[in-house]
This record gives sequence, structure tokens and C-alpha cells, in this order.
Amino acid sequence: MDQRGKLIIFSAPSGAGKTTIVRHLLEQDLGLEFSVSATTRPPREHEVHGKDYFFMSVDDFKGSVAAGEFVEWEEVYPGRFYGTLRSELERIWAGGHHAIFDIDVIGGLDLKEVYQTRALAVFVSPPSVEALEQRLRSRGTEDEDTLRTRIDKARHEMSYADRFDTVITNDELASACREAVSLVRRFLH
Ligand code: 5GP
Repeated sequence: MDQRGKLIIFSAPSGAGKTTIVRHLLEQDLGLEFSVSATTRPPREHEVHGKDYFFMSVDDFKGSVAAGEFVEWEEVYPGRFYGTLRSELERIWAGGHHAIFDIDVIGGLDLKEVYQTRALAVFVSPPSVEALEQRLRSRGTEDEDTLRTRIDKARHEMSYADRFDTVITNDELASACREAVSLVRRFLH
């Protein structure tokens, strides 16, 4: 394994299917480990502290920002902070793995800016904003207001796609997963 671990960044509007693709990649024998982000949003049902996220209070989060503990952080939704802890990246690399990220579009571009050729930045695009809305509704994890915020944000985020190293359009999940595996394999070798 390369002494210097790499970063595999998956960004997308919420609901584009990136989480499923990232999970699929983690099941392959690619030497990847999920970078667990910190967030101030409350846990959803079944989410586990330290596995899905490090759930933090806003005060603690701001303390970590002030202490320079984040490689990147964003107020992804009003009052909802998300960030990548430097300690998490270092832990993954020390274990001889590459870090894989499920992260918002701006955060993804920030990481790419910092790590350049050490990072592969992939944008997962939904076939359309309408398709995205349908997916988010059927997931049923958000109330109407949150849903609207996410859809408006998605529309805006789609405009960042061409700043990524590559775009995967998630028309059909199985083929998007296959495409992701071959992309990542090529990057790591
Ligand atoms: P959710 O609340 O649905 O888990 O995540 C909301 C958004 O925040 C998603 O786009 C997710 O990828 C993004 N996100 C998760 N972790 C991070 C992070 O560490 N930094 C940034 N900038 N965004 C993140």
C-alpha cells in the first residue's frame, strides 16, 4: 500500500445516490475506509455515533473550528454544520488505507483544492432535478420545509459539476456503481 494515502471524494446533491455508490465501493477490495464527518444535525434513526457521523453540539463544533481541527467545514444547511476532521484522515492513512468521502459539493471542491493530485473528485449527478425530488420524497426522511431547502440547494449544486475531475450520471444505480469501481481502481493504480 502507498505510504501516502489518497482521497476519493464523492459529492452530489442530496438524493443523487452517492451514499449508495460509496457503500458499494467500500464493499470492494480497494483498500478504502470511510471518512466519518462531524455534524451538528441530530442523528436519524439507525445512525450510529462514530460510524455514520460524529454528532456534535454547535458549541463543540465551533470550538473545533477555532482549534483548527477541520480540514474543511461547511454550514451545509442553516444552523447545520458538517466537517472533515484532520484526525479522521490521519487515522485512516496511518492504517494504510485511502479515505473515501461522502461530502457536499463545496466541501468536495475544498478538499480537492487542498490535496490536488492526491485526490479524485467525483460528482454524482441525478438524471434531472425532478428525478431527484422524487427520490427524496420516497426516502421520506425529511419534512416538507427541509425537502424544499434540499431541492433548491440541489439545483444550485448541479452548476458545480464541471469543476470535478469526473461526473457519473446516476441513471441506473448498478451501472453507476460499476463505473465508480473502475474509475477508482484506475486512480489508485
Ligand atoms: P445528510 O444530513 O443528508 O447526512 O448530509 C447532508 C449533506 O452534507 C450531504 O451532501 C453530505 O454529503 C454532506 N456532508 C457530510 N459530511 C460532510 C463534511 O464533512 N463536509 C461537508 N462539507 N459536507 C458534508
